[in-house]
Amino acid sequence: MLAAFLPGNRTVELREVADPDPGHGQVLVDVRASTICGSDLRAIYREHLGEGPEAYQGVVGGHEPCGVVVAVGGGVERIRVGDRVVVYHISGCGQCEECRRGYQISCTSPRRAAYGWQRDGGHADRLLAEERDLLVLPDSLSYLDGACVACGFGTAYEALCRADVSGRDRLLVVGLGPVGLAAGLLGKAMGATTVIGTDPSPDRRALALQLGAVDEALAGGDEELADLLGDGAEVAVDCSGNGRGQLTALRHTRRWGRAVLVGEGGQLSVDVSEVLIHRQLTVHGSWVTSTVRMAELLEHLDRWGLHPDRVVTATFPLAEAGTAYEVADAGAGGKVGIVWDDRDG
Ligand SMILES: [Zn+2]
Ligand SMILES: [Zn+2]
Repeated sequence: MLAAFLPGNRTVELREVADPDPGHGQVLVDVRASTICGSDLRAIYREHLGEGPEAYQGVVGGHEPCGVVVAVGGGVERIRVGDRVVVYHISGCGQCEECRRGYQISCTSPRRAAYGWQRDGGHADRLLAEERDLLVLPDSLSYLDGACVACGFGTAYEALCRADVSGRDRLLVVGLGPVGLAAGLLGKAMGATTVIGTDPSPDRRALALQLGAVDEALAGGDEELADLLGDGAEVAVDCSGNGRGQLTALRHTRRWGRAVLVGEGGQLSVDVSEVLIHRQLTVHGSWVTSTVRMAELLEHLDRWGLHPDRVVTATFPLAEAGTAYEVADAGAGGKVGIVWDDRDG
């Protein structure tokens, strides 16, 4: 089968590799969609920056896979051949407290391995996955929808759940990359009455408006935000991952409001009394999501009729993975996907 590797220095290497064989508790997935994440670009594609859970170990790339099960190993009980599945992208030890709660992302066992980082990921015709990492995709959702949920939409949904977003809230989304777009779309579905997005890129602002992810899109200056929101939004989510954006999110959260930092990276310097204490803020750090919450999101998306694949602005076959990464790295559009067959299959 064909597989794409990410040697660094903005290169993609295509190689023929042997088809994997599912062992005990494992499942073989025929990959149908495998989207590219900001973290793939930041920590693997440009250069191998990652340490610990972000250390790339030369495996098949791609941690947002979705496909159909074609074989199961011994002891597999819940998942069957023919199931359409989303792969939760971190395989934990399965036994520690975090894993048992479904937060395999926070597993600290040496056995923990993320797909596309420490074990083979979704940029290949077939993927070997652990049964416990798989969620069954509702019939109404496409494979590309599922790939978007595997990391980005799951991460955005978790952040919104942590802030308990509802119809009582206006939502500020700082950073309108794919996770920011997801936060806007999901925030509206969860009831937020007004969604304000900020991003320095005019292209990203235009896309967010066009997709209906935000009601207003601003460059992110303090004055224009204060004009629109007064004391601030009841809930703010930072998806920018840089200190400037993170500070914008905190400064424009309303007194007694809730802020969530979900964009990875950045260094934040903040006047603690002025911005946090005197304004009575609750600030959450939120890292990815749990398998339980991801399953819940899939059920809601089905009920809401919301298709995450609308944030995908370009798709390529696996043979053109190099171009797919170039387009994603340029950062002008929405999410970029590698797909097999058509996008609705
Ligand atoms: Zn990701
Ligand atoms: Zn664990």
